[in-house]
Amino acid sequence: MVGLLLALQVSTLSAHSPAPAVYDRVILGGRVMDPASGLDAVRNIGLSAGRITVISGEAIQGRDTVDARGLVVAPGFIDLHAHGQTPETYRFYALDGVTTALELELGTADVAAWYRERSAGERINYGVSIGHIKVRMAVMHDSGTRMPVSDGAYRAASPAQIGEIAHRIETGLREGAVDIGAGFPYTPAATREELLAVFRVAAKTHTPIHVHIRPGVTGLKEALALAAETHAPLHVVHINSAGLAETPALLELISAARASGRDVTTEAYPYDAGMTEIQSATVQDVYKNAPDERLAELEWPPTGERLNRESFERYARIGGPVVIHTNTEPMVAAAITSPLTIIASDAYWQDGTGHPRTTGAFARVLGRYVRETHALSLMDAIRKMTLMPAQRLERQVPAMRQKGRLRVGADADITIFDPATVIDRSTYREPSLSPVGIQHVIVNGVSVVAKGQAVEGVAPGKAVRGQPLR
Ligand SMILES: [Zn+2]
Repeated sequence: MVGLLLALQVSTLSAHSPAPAVYDRVILGGRVMDPASGLDAVRNIGLSAGRITVISGEAIQGRDTVDARGLVVAPGFIDLHAHGQTPETYRFYALDGVTTALELELGTADVAAWYRERSAGERINYGVSIGHIKVRMAVMHDSGTRMPVSDGAYRAASPAQIGEIAHRIETGLREGAVDIGAGFPYTPAATREELLAVFRVAAKTHTPIHVHIRPGVTGLKEALALAAETHAPLHVVHINSAGLAETPALLELISAARASGRDVTTEAYPYDAGMTEIQSATVQDVYKNAPDERLAELEWPPTGERLNRESFERYARIGGPVVIHTNTEPMVAAAITSPLTIIASDAYWQDGTGHPRTTGAFARVLGRYVRETHALSLMDAIRKMTLMPAQRLERQVPAMRQKGRLRVGADADITIFDPATVIDRSTYREPSLSPVGIQHVIVNGVSVVAKGQAVEGVAPGKAVRGQPLR
């Protein structure tokens, strides 16, 4: 009887005044910043079924409320260069504001298996390229695990093997790879014919090829020539570490190529040291016969020691990541603040250690280059982390058309941070520290970071794939 009366009262109420919409989650009172529309104002955002349903100055209600007063509400950050693709690194990325992490440089040799392994869902959205380095390792039967160390690096491929490499790259795209990855210094024996074959696949399928170029102006000119000859879309990864002292010249070359209508983009990470596997060709080729002064550029992360001939050879037998101190802060600043660059972390993590960019790249740009040095406006920094990476991929990756923007209908991937405190904390000695100031991170409408802490036991992240027919 009581239940019937209540039901009557509810139906009477709703007959007279339409019930206000109740969203799954609302984000109230934040400074909403959207580089695509230019919106920069205090708004309330309502999310339902994993999408943004309303952005309004009016009061709205939700089953769950995020208080964003005093905070910036931005599209979730998109990282085009995230090597770690494990639950551990997805957690690091989320704490740094990243809602989509893609491994597009090394990539994988088996796209179908890569996505299958993650099909139960992850903390954040994920995706991978079909990688020339990894495919070459498979075709040439390289003995390395992570990067080529034998024939994958040092033996020229036969015409039949080049054909097989190109065929496997096309297969990867048909299986939904986001795009194509390559790293010329990791595969020094790959001939121009082989690289042209890979670029032709990129051109034919209108797929961007993400290339770790050979060093400096010469290296960039080589990649630009391959792209010009084949008409392949080109993305030059980490221009800061590719360019070092020549970074401004590289940026000018890319600017000129774009001005003449070429489809060329680039990215940078905000640290003045790099890191890679000590056994890889890119380290061995440079340091194998180097004098002690050069070897001192290398730092062994577990101990913090700078290397010499004896320690270099000892650690090269063991294997593991090595820190490479070859850049300067002015060159990093030139790369980060250029309007050409997307922010991408090059996150690198292996056996419990890695580069601090794995845990702090995005917070570091917001804290150091926006708040502390005023080298970038907040809107420009957000654009480099959201809209620009989405636009780089959206022609071939439909999911990217709904990411990197705050608008009704877009995926509810949202990062909420405190612009007054946001900063990275990780160092080369202590690279696993999460940043401060990244307060809330939402992936497909689900909270994965709340009040600065990781939410455990959630896996709303979905696969980001290229369209299979291309
Ligand atoms: Zn690289």
